[in-house]
Amino acid sequence: MAEHGKLIVFSAPSGAGKSSLKDALMKRFPKLRYSVSATTRPPRPGESEGDHYYFKTLAEFKEMIDRNELVEHMQVHGNFYGTPRAPILQALQQGFSIILDLDVYGKVNFDKAFPDALGILIAPPNLEELERRLIGRQSDSQETIRIRLQNANRELDFAYREGKYEYTVVNDDFNRALEELTGILERELGTRRMQEHSK
Ligand code: ADP
Ligand code: 5GP
Repeated sequence: MAEHGKLIVFSAPSGAGKSSLKDALMKRFPKLRYSVSATTRPPRPGESEGDHYYFKTLAEFKEMIDRNELVEHMQVHGNFYGTPRAPILQALQQGFSIILDLDVYGKVNFDKAFPDALGILIAPPNLEELERRLIGRQSDSQETIRIRLQNANRELDFAYREGKYEYTVVNDDFNRALEELTGILERELGTRRMQEHSK
């Protein structure tokens, strides 16, 4: 267990395998916590309130923004997503490290509040494989998959140009990528101290 909590931001185009890798890492690092985001996206089959997301109506989400409860928020693929501040500050104070799942644009805003957060970009081996994974997941409509694929190129471009990711891990073979990420977390947990910049 690290002495101080660390923040580790995972970003990836939808379907690259970020959630699967994150879930496997959480099992290997039991003291890591996951920052559960708020979203206006409807739950997918198997997703539950408070585990995967806090599912909000648009009005509820806007109230969270108005009450300044979110470190950052972003519209992604037509839905709103945001990072609740209180659980992060609480977990850091308690010495836990936290994994966050942020889209590449949200990561830039998140960095303004937490400039020392570690960024890890998960990239798919190629766009054809990304499409296969999105279809294979059987969780999104054809139209949703089309939007996500359209956005993937742009997101990767942006991430490479402006993203400030310390690591890029290509999720080609799942176990290989998991081993690479495990090595990164073993190295990194214990070196960075997180403090929110005052506004
Ligand atoms: P994301 O969270 O990035 O949107 P998921 O973790 O939901 O992506 O993965 C998308 C789909 O691809 C899932 O069905 C998952 O089981 C599958 N998947 C993840 N990693 C790999 C991999 N390395 N090779 C093949 N399929 C994968
Ligand atoms: P999904 O709908 O597939 O769960 O997530 C879609 C996208 O939203 C992903 O790129 C994911 O990283 C991003 N995302 C999830 N939570 C947040 C958040 O709190 N803030 C931002 N900016 N993006 C998020």
